[in-house]
Amino acid sequence: MRILYVEDEQLLADAVTHLLKKSGINVDWAADGEEGFNLAIKPVYDAIVLDIMLPKMSGLEILESIRKRGVKTPVIMLSALSEVEDKVKGLENGADDYLAKPFKTKELIARLNALTRRPALRESKILKYEDLELDSENRTLNGISVTEKENEILEMLIKSGEKTVQKDYILAHVWGADMMAEDNYVEVYMSYLRKKLKSLHSKVEIKTVRGLGYKLVTKA
Ligand code: CA
Repeated sequence: MRILYVEDEQLLADAVTHLLKKSGINVDWAADGEEGFNLAIKPVYDAIVLDIMLPKMSGLEILESIRKRGVKTPVIMLSALSEVEDKVKGLENGADDYLAKPFKTKELIARLNALTRRPALRESKILKYEDLELDSENRTLNGISVTEKENEILEMLIKSGEKTVQKDYILAHVWGADMMAEDNYVEVYMSYLRKKLKSLHSKVEIKTVRGLGYKLVTKA
């Protein structure tokens, strides 16, 4: 596996690069956004690990530019805990995964392995709830597209029916253990989904159950 690692903090970059190489991953390191972009457009990488805060060009700008050029290399965004909005933007702009800083290199390696593995064939399935139809394979909700995370959350809500899905459960299942501290990530996605339900004029709403989680309810 050969990856591009774009990170301006040299000490961190050295430490992570060292550990990745020890696990047999070839790493090209770029220390600023411009260099990162110039390397990222080359079709030689199995994955790109992209810090958000970078000199010359931000990680989000790099991501947007390479996706516009049709570069489909899987991207893992790195970001500090305070940059929730950036992370969400990253995922909306075509990042495949993200990791909150500080992270364990072991976790990064696991994510890289998962991303570069051939995606498993998913069985075609359509989930229904009231006037909603979620097509998980094509990732559409009543014909409008939903992101991968939105799809996962909707699947959980629809399968739970009238039962409340706990926020921690959503966090752990959609984002993994490293997201434990970031409840507001779930909230951000719920607001996206509520907007989508509204735009569909659905009878269904996402109700917040205070201190617990979320569930689907049908408007009277
Ligand atoms: Ca940085």
